[in-house]
Parts: sequence; C-alpha cells; structure tokens
Amino acid sequence: AQREAAPEPAPSPAARSDREHLLRSWSSYADAPPAVIAGGEGAHFWDEQGRRWLDFSSQLVNLNVGHQHPRLVAAIRAQAETLCTLAPYHANAATSEAARLIADVAPPGLNRVFFTNGGAEAVENAIRMARLHTGRHKVLTAYRSYHGATAGAIAASGDPRRWPSEPGPPGIVRFWGPYAYRSAFHAADAAQECERALAHLADTIAAEGPQGIAAILLETVVGANGVLVPPDGYLQGVRALCDAHGIAMIADEVMVGFGRCGQWFAIDHWGVVPDLITFAKGVNAGYVPLGGVILSEAIAERYAHRAYPGGLTYSGHPLACAAAVACIGIYRDEGLIERARVLGETVIAPELERLRLRHPSVGDVRGLGAFWGLELVRNPVNREPLVPFNASGAEAAPMAEFAAACKQRGLWPFVVANRLHIAPPLVIAEQDLREGLAIVDAALDVADRYCV
Ligand code: PLP
Repeated sequence: AQREAAPEPAPSPAARSDREHLLRSWSSYADAPPAVIAGGEGAHFWDEQGRRWLDFSSQLVNLNVGHQHPRLVAAIRAQAETLCTLAPYHANAATSEAARLIADVAPPGLNRVFFTNGGAEAVENAIRMARLHTGRHKVLTAYRSYHGATAGAIAASGDPRRWPSEPGPPGIVRFWGPYAYRSAFHAADAAQECERALAHLADTIAAEGPQGIAAILLETVVGANGVLVPPDGYLQGVRALCDAHGIAMIADEVMVGFGRCGQWFAIDHWGVVPDLITFAKGVNAGYVPLGGVILSEAIAERYAHRAYPGGLTYSGHPLACAAAVACIGIYRDEGLIERARVLGETVIAPELERLRLRHPSVGDVRGLGAFWGLELVRNPVNREPLVPFNASGAEAAPMAEFAAACKQRGLWPFVVANRLHIAPPLVIAEQDLREGLAIVDAALDVADRYCV
C-alpha cells in the first residue's frame, strides 16, 4: 500500500507575518522562508519545530559568549530595571564603565571611545575623525573588504555589495591587499606577497598624492571577504607608510575585535598600534546593538576644547553598554580570549588540515584563533573556485547544496561565495566543536562531487 506524504505543517503566525511584512537584510521576500528561531543556549539554537543547530557562525560572527549567557542576561535585566535609556549628553555608570574597560583592553595610547549602534556607523565616524585630524579627504580601502551598509561605509567597502550603491560619495580609492592563495601580485610565497602588497600600496599612495590622503582603512584580518590573515610584516609596513606620509591608520576590528582571533584585538598579534579602531559585534556579543571608535590621544586631543561634529541619539546606550561591561567581564573571568587561541591551535587548525588533505574540494585553509576559512574549489590544481566570487541563483547551487548538507546534519554554517567561514562561539564545548568539524567533513563529500 502506498503511504501518503505527511502534509506540510501550516505556517506559524510568526512565519506568516515574516513572509507578509518583513524585509530582511540582503534578502528578497521571495527567498525561501527562514526557520523561525525560538530559542538558544550556549553554542546551540533551535526553531519553532524543535530543529536544533550547532552554531558555527556565531550568528554574524558576534555571539562570542553564546546564547543566553546568564551573566549577560542578568546585567541587561538589571540595567533595564534601573535606567533603560538616556540622551548621550548625560553621563551614566554603564556607559562610562564600558568606555573605561574598552580603553583598558585597547592597544597602548588608544584611550577614548565614541559609541555608535553598530559597525557601519563606527566606520563612518572613524573616517570623519581621520579627515578632521589630517585636513585631507581621500580614504584608501582594500578591494576585498566589507565595512558596512550605510552610504559611506558601503562606498568604502570593496566587495560586490557596493555595486548597486554606486556612484557613492567621492574620495574612496581602492588597493589590493595580501591574499597568498590568489595573489594579485603573482607572488610565490607569503614573504613575497607581503613585500609586493606593500610596494603596491606605496605606489598607490604616490599616485594618489599623499598630501590628499586622510586614512588607510583596512580590516586587520579580512572577514566576510575570505578570512584573510595578513602575512607577518604587512600591518607593520602599513603603519610605516602611514607614519611616513601623515596618514591615519584605521583598523576595522568590527568582526575580529574582542577575542575572535585569540587576542583582544586581532592587531595585537602583530603589536601594531593604529590611530583609530572600529569595533562592534564582540564588544557585547551582539546582545544589544553597539559599536564604536577608539581614538588615539593625538586624534582625541582635537576635542579637548571643541565639540566633535558628530553624534547619534543612542550613542552610549545604557542597555548596550551594560551588556558590554558584563561581556568584557565574562571574557576575562572565563578566559575566553585565551580559549579562542587554544581551540584554534589545538583543535581547529589540525582538523581543517586533515580535511584539506582528505577532500579535493578544499583548496585552502587559513585562520587565526577561532576564526577560520575553507576555500572550496572545483580543481585543486588550477584553484578554480567551486562557485564564482559573486555567484547567485543556479551558479551558487554547489555551495547551497553544501550548506544544506551541513544544516540537515545539525550544523549552522557560515557560507560566503566559495568559502565556509568557521567562527563558533568561544564558549563552545570541545566535544561540540569536534562534532561540528565531523559534520563539515561529511558535508564536504557533496562539494567533492563537483571536483574535476
Ligand atoms: N566592518 C566589518 C569588518 C564588518 O565585518 C561589518 C559587518 O559584518 C561591518 C563593518 C558593519 O557592521 P554592522 O553590520 O554592525 O553595521
């Protein structure tokens, strides 16, 4: 006898309202409806139907302390019961304590914090600060970069998401940063890539006229555009070029700041001190929207006796800042930043190297701390990517199939173009991390089928 297929469950009220009334970031409402997420704990979250996933993306690389960390939830609740909101011209304990703690963990000489609601606004304000400080206009940014979706930040980004917003505000000039696996400079190794990328940047500065350049804006470790860890010496070289020409160095640490790479800021790995740092995401693990800029004393000094010409209604929002105070306390007390480094070195790096040797579709493995990328290819010899860098629709199908294979097995992957980015919450249990990597291993069989 033939069994009838079980009927699809009727969409829940939340699913229906989502479909009928919501426009989500970077989405069309004709896209397949997303799962309605009902809850989470630590490195796991689940939907209304009880399907459960291990989160290898930390949502959008922000959920460093995992879902529903009791200390963080309690801090937000306590602040909500005391004072929910405040205009930014008042002082309050949560905001000033958050600024003090951030200055405390920032590189030496970066002591003053301007708060925003997220990463893009942090980038906008850092650019403004650099322009006011130098009296110059141009900003140099990398092709493989993402800095946010507001007008200035998307113009400063290098990836294809900027295309529909062009022509954007003037003054942005792009350069190629280092990327040994797909070198723009035909370099043979990391040392040569570093040398040539710095020579190219020096040439770009000369061709643009250093006297007109306010800032070099770069992601310390490039995030959404590929988990690109710069070769040793590159950031030192950028710092030297900035010093030689009076250019402000802006390190965008929105994705990697606050522990992701196994240091408070990724730039700490190289001991380089930028003039401005942008941060968001990890500062309070995304529990309440918060971002900001950390200013060097030389840049902050301008505002000792005159007003900074910029502001936001919610700058230094007490709820967000109370969450930051608790989150920085959690990083310290639970040793999570050191944990990111140790998990990266002892579990993630060796396991991914094993996957690279085992699967022809794994072309490159790279990362730092708890932030890794697998680059998938059709052909490991000529490095043809599994899907083109700006693939959509049918072209992107092999990566969509790979992502679906992960999700079916209970893992939430972070897939961008032809890459799997691995960024689990820093609290993930080692056993869960190993299980997640075993799921990646199994799902890679799907990608291998496309290999020549
Ligand atoms: N800068 C970097 C490096 C980012 O990764 C992001 C977001 O992913 C942003 C800026 C923009 O941050 P937001 O989405 O909070 O505006």
